[in-house]
Amino acid sequence: MDNDRKRLLGQARQHVDSLRLAGVEWMPVAPRPIDLTSRPNEDIAAGAAIARGEHAKPSLGNTAIPEGELFDTVEAAEPANLEERRTALSVLAHAVAGCTRCKELAATRTQTVFGVGKPGVDLCFVGEAPGADEDAQGEPFVGAAGQLLNKIIAACGMKREDVYICNIIKCRPPGNRAPLADEAGNCREYLEKQIELVRPRFLCALGSTAAQNLLGTTQSIGKLRGRFHSFKGIPTICTYHPAYLLPHRSPDKKKDVWEDMKMLLSRMGRPVG
Ligand code: SF4
Repeated sequence: MDNDRKRLLGQARQHVDSLRLAGVEWMPVAPRPIDLTSRPNEDIAAGAAIARGEHAKPSLGNTAIPEGELFDTVEAAEPANLEERRTALSVLAHAVAGCTRCKELAATRTQTVFGVGKPGVDLCFVGEAPGADEDAQGEPFVGAAGQLLNKIIAACGMKREDVYICNIIKCRPPGNRAPLADEAGNCREYLEKQIELVRPRFLCALGSTAAQNLLGTTQSIGKLRGRFHSFKGIPTICTYHPAYLLPHRSPDKKKDVWEDMKMLLSRMGRPVG
């Protein structure tokens, strides 16, 4: 096997792995091309209809799907129950995986990092953007900051599987720079749809970039934390990004994060340790 073929196979395998992590359980072998730049809502809506069983749902390993069958135009409808939302989320992740709205990010990412968790959870954490570890593994918050987030979740009496975790943008900015305004704007539609489908009872924005983008404000995280805000009617708390709490940065801020978490737990009706 020549090197180009090996590289392409490796990339394809990585792409499928990232879709699996994002919850995608099936995909068309040769779908009609989806126009991701002009009509994502229609494609997402088509996915929702597929979720209702209006089309066959092959597994990832299934290869017997006629070309163009899956994404034929179907009537749009809001997915209502958990199963429909789970499937619509998978379809959204599939659409995001092929997104090229941000040219630089699409050209430099290893893969998109959609999110992890199940719809219907009580709490959704929203971070800034994938870093190097996340870009390599296709899952948000898996590096050092992710380990710290796991500890915060455990201190709250929950497991990582009990919450949903995503980022404002789904592709790693080169050099881990902050997302640009137009990149956050490009990805906003995906984020809003994602949160709508997960439908958490509470949101927690991690760090100033996530909080400012989510809430549409320029206030600093220092001013935003310590109280509740609302994102489309969902009570939202903001706190410091776990990366900011790492030993070489500001570990003294851990106590502020814990204060924010205690406020959140109390509002959620959960025991506060
Ligand atoms: S950051 Fe979002 S909008 Fe930009 S290319 Fe990635 S998935 Fe598309």
